Amino acid sequence: MAIATNLLQIKSTLPKHVTLVAVSKTKPVSDLMEAYEAGQRIFGENKIQEMAEKWDQIPKDIQWHMIGHVQTNKVKFMAPFVSLIHGVDSLKLLEEINKQGKKNNRIIDCLLQIHIAEEETKFGLDEEELASLVSSNEIQELKNIRIVGLMGMATFTDNKEQVKKEFTHLKSIFDQFKINNSQFTILSMGMSGDYQLAIECGSTMVRIGSSIFGGRN
Ligand SMILES: *Cc1c(COP(=O)(O)O)cnc(C)c1O
Repeated sequence: MAIATNLLQIKSTLPKHVTLVAVSKTKPVSDLMEAYEAGQRIFGENKIQEMAEKWDQIPKDIQWHMIGHVQTNKVKFMAPFVSLIHGVDSLKLLEEINKQGKKNNRIIDCLLQIHIAEEETKFGLDEEELASLVSSNEIQELKNIRIVGLMGMATFTDNKEQVKKEFTHLKSIFDQFKINNSQFTILSMGMSGDYQLAIECGSTMVRIGSSIFGGRN
């Protein structure tokens, strides 16, 4: 019951233009089903194998989002069903997603991950790398992928001004690249701790886990 209550409570606070990804990583399918019964159809996972196992077990009208870092050699396991890949940050990965999309006769939607946090360890492109990637000739050749927006994660800190600065930065990059790319419609930013702020800063898609499903080990 708690899951359904949490989910509906959060959903009631989200503006219409903001999509909720329920981040169900590490949680059993019974938890996902509780959210499903409460109406949720978009789930986010960060491990390809775990996502594929869950996909196999529960209703097929669920949209599965890969929100974690993707290893090239595992793309094939999600290519038949994944609906959006959030964390794409290299041409090499895009080429593999394209190849697997082709094999499955699909066009796979991707977000490019931008590095906005101070932490060195987080994945993602900087502004220059983004610019050269989206304008490269190679990317034009990839007919089985579609780049539909950007994703980013703010620094893990209580400093709201810092987080706001980072989200605002990502939003400005998004707006800039949107000008020449009509497919750019999704800005994925915001998690349990910072999604309200992310929405204030222009997020169109929030990835919320622990506030719906409870803490993870
Ligand atoms: C786990 C995770 C989330 C959800 O985090 P919560 O703090 O539990 O809401 C969001 N985005 C990414 C990329 C994650 O790995």
